[in-house]
Amino acid sequence: PVQVPVRAPAQQTVEAARPVRTTGEQPLAGRRALVTGGASGIGAATVRAFAAQGAHVTVADRDGDGAAALAEEVNGDSWTVDLLGTGDLEDLSLDVDILVNNAGIQAVQPIHTFDPAAFRRIHTLMLEAPFLLIRAALPAMYDRGFGRIINLSSIHGLRASPFKAAYVSAKHGLEGLSKVTALEGGEHGVTSNCVNPGYVRTPLVENQISDQARLHGITEEDVLSTIMLTESAIKRMVEPEEVAALVCWLASDVAGMVTGSSYVMDGGWSAR
Ligand code: NAD
Repeated sequence: PVQVPVRAPAQQTVEAARPVRTTGEQPLAGRRALVTGGASGIGAATVRAFAAQGAHVTVADRDGDGAAALAEEVNGDSWTVDLLGTGDLEDLSLDVDILVNNAGIQAVQPIHTFDPAAFRRIHTLMLEAPFLLIRAALPAMYDRGFGRIINLSSIHGLRASPFKAAYVSAKHGLEGLSKVTALEGGEHGVTSNCVNPGYVRTPLVENQISDQARLHGITEEDVLSTIMLTESAIKRMVEPEEVAALVCWLASDVAGMVTGSSYVMDGGWSAR
């Protein structure tokens, strides 16, 4: 069995029908959160934002050093875990109020030569692992009558781009998983939603620019201007902190009627 370091903060109170907290600077006070892929990018911004709003956060990442350093910064815990090892997750039970399925990778290849192993890795990390973590977290959420599941999808959970067969299909699958979780969890006080960013300034995006340039036959500068920004109304990338603010809101008490939804933050990219 996998040991997950999630400790209850001193101020944790758990009552099923808790009043909605609409005010105050710490709307997540007393909440325990787990953020996968929490050591970098959107995950790290979410960890910091959760902590600033009063939550106790466990940073889960295969980058154990990065997770530990951030956990120390926010007075949380870290869990070094390779989420591709999904066999280990089958016996897991998680005791958290908020689960953020965020860990992700990308592979940019045409379908007719797409590496099957890379396809499977993406689906394992970005669809099967979220399923297993949701499965592990729901029993305690159901017992408490409260839970917030936030799945980092993408504009590619709703729309497609060439050369991203694995990513697009995994994210579309995650959208379905999130909705089923919402339908089953509703009567237990559990909400489940997707967050769908456009291009966010993180290593995940920076690492795909050279492959995109080669496959589209354009320069790396043109990848940024043509593919990532031309379609957007607000001609810049999304910042991780902007996504984290949306995740915080979905995790808060006031978002209790928001479930089974997908929240796009793409500077207008998908409005066109
Ligand atoms: P990132 O590369 O900055 O961070 C991803 C984190 O996941 C890293 O800390 C990495 O160590 C961790 N990770 C990767 N494989 C793992 C594994 N096997 N086990 C455990 N941890 C693992 O990426 P990001 O841009 O912050 O992306 C976070 C999420 O947001 C992803 O699901 C991504 O698909 C989604 N997203 C990103 C963008 C974007 O433009 N950056 C846009 C839409 C959606």
